[in-house]
Amino acid sequence: MTDSVNFFDLSRKDLADYLSEKFSLPAFRANQLFDWVYKKNVWDISQMSNLSEVLRDQLAGHFTFPEAEIKDRQISNDGTRKYLFQVPSGRTIETVLIKQPKRQTICVSSQYGCGMGCKFCRTGTMGFIANLKPSDIVAQVLGILKDAKEFGDGFQNIVFMGMGEPLHNYKTIITTVRILTDPKGLAISPRRITVSTVGLVPAIEKFAEADLGVNLAISLNATDDATRTEIMPTNKAFPIDTLLGTLKKYPLAGRKKLTIEYVMLAGVNDRDEDLKRLPRLLKDIKCKVNLIPYNENAGLGFKSPSEEKVYRWFKVLNEQFIFTSVRWSKGKDINAACGQLVTEKFALNETSIKNNLQQAENKNSKLAVIQ
Ligand code: SAH
Ligand code: SF4
Repeated sequence: MTDSVNFFDLSRKDLADYLSEKFSLPAFRANQLFDWVYKKNVWDISQMSNLSEVLRDQLAGHFTFPEAEIKDRQISNDGTRKYLFQVPSGRTIETVLIKQPKRQTICVSSQYGCGMGCKFCRTGTMGFIANLKPSDIVAQVLGILKDAKEFGDGFQNIVFMGMGEPLHNYKTIITTVRILTDPKGLAISPRRITVSTVGLVPAIEKFAEADLGVNLAISLNATDDATRTEIMPTNKAFPIDTLLGTLKKYPLAGRKKLTIEYVMLAGVNDRDEDLKRLPRLLKDIKCKVNLIPYNENAGLGFKSPSEEKVYRWFKVLNEQFIFTSVRWSKGKDINAACGQLVTEKFALNETSIKNNLQQAENKNSKLAVIQ
């Protein structure tokens, strides 16, 4: 049917609105459909036995329930899995299931490529190609839950740290989070979800207002504007002071904290002066720090710091009462670690990498107008 809608693009409220407009149905029908699809895993309307036959006939054909198709799956020797999914909108993207001792984390992609142009990131070299839709992200989660059954209910976290800049695909992320956390649906606790951003200030402010209860991580990655602009062109539009000013005002309930991500690039942002400046910059921000030793990407020219350096930073920051953790990379052997995701046909040559990064840089000078 031409006017059928993809069920996985709709929050429960969107669904209720659709059912009300199209069929004059009351809101509880949306609850029933959510329950069948997300809790009972029944995706065939004709089998939804608490709907009358008339209603089932009426709704049949109006919804599609497309799945992500697994095109490839690699399993790292540390148990981490990297999936190549063809998502419902037809794009091929990567999703990672990170295996940790006491929990599993699903790392979803939010865009196809990324237009932010961070110089150290492999996804950045693809440039921006397309936004994913809510159904493309929901399908990644459902696809992994279905494939990785042996993990049981053990998966606990979802992080928006795969390909793309989530807050550059703002509306989609809001809808997706609403779908994933809906108590009548998958009911994933918002506390288990983290959205990571390069630091798009207006979108962070809007995100705060949306009050979804999920965690926000911000990729700071430098302690001075010159260095940050050099490695992250978005810093031109939203320099460190402006970004931190926004984070100071970010509303946080109870003991919640922001996460400041800091990718350590040897000799670039891991100098002694950076270690001195970082605690000062974070002084009035309720946050913890996540140090990410750089995962090297051939051709991009950055190096990982020594382990000794990482431990020193960890120790010094913790001594200054900044709760700090280190994200040692998982799935390195299959290029599944942070910032190593790229759809393989985009394993680009040096010229196209340069072109894409240059394009991103030009676009980023206009970023101030991003929603
Ligand atoms: N676009 C968002 C989320 C995806 S990137 C963001 O930038 O925050 C997720 C994290 O991976 C970010 O903190 C980013 O700085 C980091 N990252 C990118 N490339 C990396 C690499 N090669 N090694 C380690 N971390 C990397
Ligand atoms: Fe995009 Fe994040 Fe990579 Fe920067 S680090 S290019 S924002 S995915």
